This record gives sequence, C-alpha cells and structure tokens, in this order.
Amino acid sequence: MSTTQKHIDFHVEAIRKDFPILNREVNGKPLIYFDNAATSQTPQQVIDVIVDYYSNYNANIHRGVHALSQEATDAYEQARIKIQKHFNAKHAHEIIYTSGTTHGINLVANSFSSLLKKGDEVIVSALEHHSNIVPWQMLCERTGATLKVIPMNTDGELILSEFERLLNANTKLVFVNHISNALGTINPIEAIIEKAHAVNAAVLVDGAQSCPHIRPDVQALDVDFYVCSAHKICGPTGVGMLYGKEEWLKKLPPYQGGGEMIAEVSFEKTTYADLPHKFEAGTPNVCGGIAFGAALDYMNAIGFDAIASYENELLEYATNQMLQIDGLKIYGTAKEKTSVISFNVGNIHPYDIGTILDKMGIALRTGHHCAQPIMDFYQIPGTIRASFMFYNTKEEIDTFIAALKKAVMMLS
Ligand SMILES: *Cc1c(COP(=O)(O)O)cnc(C)c1O
Repeated sequence: MSTTQKHIDFHVEAIRKDFPILNREVNGKPLIYFDNAATSQTPQQVIDVIVDYYSNYNANIHRGVHALSQEATDAYEQARIKIQKHFNAKHAHEIIYTSGTTHGINLVANSFSSLLKKGDEVIVSALEHHSNIVPWQMLCERTGATLKVIPMNTDGELILSEFERLLNANTKLVFVNHISNALGTINPIEAIIEKAHAVNAAVLVDGAQSCPHIRPDVQALDVDFYVCSAHKICGPTGVGMLYGKEEWLKKLPPYQGGGEMIAEVSFEKTTYADLPHKFEAGTPNVCGGIAFGAALDYMNAIGFDAIASYENELLEYATNQMLQIDGLKIYGTAKEKTSVISFNVGNIHPYDIGTILDKMGIALRTGHHCAQPIMDFYQIPGTIRASFMFYNTKEEIDTFIAALKKAVMMLS
C-alpha cells in the first residue's frame, strides 16, 4: 500500500458493464461479490468465446483431418501461445494445459517421485493452500523424503532467515505460493528462488492468487515451475496451466498415460510424445483453453498496472474503515499484500457474520480458506475473508462496512 503510487484513472463503471452477473440481485439486494479469491467473475467477452466455440467449431483436436478439428486445434494452440507470451515463457511447449492449480501441483509432485529418495528434503511454507501441502506430503510418503516448513511471523510474512537455515545439499525442491489466498501476503519469491538455486533445489511457485493481480515473468524470476487456474483470472473453471522449464519437463516422466501423450504404442513398448503433449493425456478442455486465452486478453487490455493500483486503493479504503470497528482484528498485516482482508470481530463466529451479510446480498468467504495451518498459527478456527477485484467499487465497500456494523450489533 504505497502512498507514492500515482493515481491512474480507472473506469470501473464501464468495466462493470462487461460482467452480466454483477447486475443480479441476491436476497432482494444488489449482489456485492467479495469472494474473488475463491473464484473471479467472467466478462461477456469470455462468455462470447465459450458460446462461439460450442456454437461453431466444437471438435476434438490434434487428430482430425476435418475443418472443425483443425479450427479447434488452431484456436487451442493459439491460446497456448497467448499464455506463453503473457508469462514470458521461452517456448510455447513449456506451457502445459492442466485442469487448474491443484492438477499442476499434483503433476509435478507425481513426476518427481522417480527423482527423490530417502534422505532428500523438500521445503514448503507455513502460508500454503492445502493443495500445495498435501500432494508433497504424499510425495514424501512414496519416496521417504522429508518435508520441512518455512515459518511465518504474526504479520503473516515468511521468515527468510529461517528458510536459509533449512536449505542444504539434500534440499531438492521448494514450493511456495506467490500470494497467500488466506492473508493476501505477497511472498518474496525472487529471494526464495535465488537461495534455493544456490543449493541446486528446484522451485515451484503456486501462482493461483498472484495471476489475478500481477503479470509474472517466469524467465526474469528464473522459476522452475509456475502454476495457476484460469477461473481466478476471469476465465472458466476446469482449466489452468503449468509452466515448466524445458530442461525439467524433458527430465520428468509423464504423470498420466493415455491418448494424445504417446508417439507410438505397442504392448512391448510405448514411446512418449514430445512436449507439451507428453503431459497432456486424453481429450483436454479445448473450450476452456481457448477461453483462458481470451481472459488473458481481457485483463491485458485493462492492464495489470492499472488493475494493481486500483485494487490497492480499494484495499486501503476498506482497511482504514474496518479498523474503526470495535474489536475487529485483521489477520495478515504484511507490508506487501494484495486486496484480501481476513478478519474476525471479537468472539463472534465468522460463519454468523457471513450468514447475515449474505442476507444483505454480500458474498464473503468464511472458514479456514483451505489453509488450516495458518488458522492453527493464529489459534482461531477461521476468519471472514473479503477479497476485491478490479470490478469492485468504493461504494460497494461502504455498503459492506455499514452491513458489517449492523451484523456486529445484532450478534454482540
Ligand atoms: C485457489 C487456490 C488454489 C487451488 O486452485 P484450484 O483452481 O482449486 O486448483 C491453490 N493455491 C492457491 C493459493 C489458491 O488461491
């Protein structure tokens, strides 16, 4: 939340017209959608691409001689190139389509099984989503490798000096999120990558929460693997991407077997297809991939600098007002954070506040946000989470603050 940031004119009312869902009512009140960290809403431009696909060129890809199949293949591969350009990957074949962040992490964790042995160490952070914890625990069970954890402080920041102490010649892999979904902390992944590489460990970054707010450059970061989900970036559910450095993707064995991922199959021996198809078994989410590309086009047309600066304004505006409410405590007070506010008020159960605000048309998340270790750290069962996206407004925040005050009065 820097005050020196220059103000960029942001035409939020025009942007809101792109999102049909923002016109609907919930419980007789205009919808205020503050659950963007769970999933984002979809603009008409992306909905149109989905409708066009199923109306005009739905076909299976890569194996048809007919026109529809070629059109679908072209659009799907063009979208892969859009994703490559967006993340500044060196090659299009370093972009693997997945069903989402969870799938991308499981792909890497499973493929690493053959490369790890007892005595090897892998490092996770205290700030992770369950989907960046459980697949690695399963990997450790399969291989005998040991899982270590980078601790956090009460502001919700990782303690880098502790990270350095965990690193040694046995460290093979480090996996952290770029931004925490539960607290909004932006992690210092540049430093984490540099320090991990100094001991020759590979780094996977979970970008599910960063991609809606910033545009990562995987070559500048020198990251080994980067994963995200389209549905958090104005795209559809069920599609995402895994970026992997070519050398790693060549070294790792395939995760799933099936059609599309082979070069030749006989019962004696099967050879695998080249990248990226080696990791893309079965008929993919063709429409989803194309719509993912359209979502990136949509967000890039607005511009990530403008998005980040406007969202910071929303964060600051909401934070200042919320801190005026008696007994309200915000979890996650890192200096570097995005537009996520996790909070509780006194001893009121998060679910009770969430339920009352839903009656007023306001969509928030309550619970552990798939990050139970963070809740354990703060010794709380959960929080209420408001997460903003560039189509939210200060007026919506005003309505939310008034509703929150009312809910607190009713419940205390
Ligand atoms: C949402 C999220 C995930 C999981 O993404 P899916 O789309 O459910 O696979 C993982 N990590 C973080 C930080 C998230 O925010």
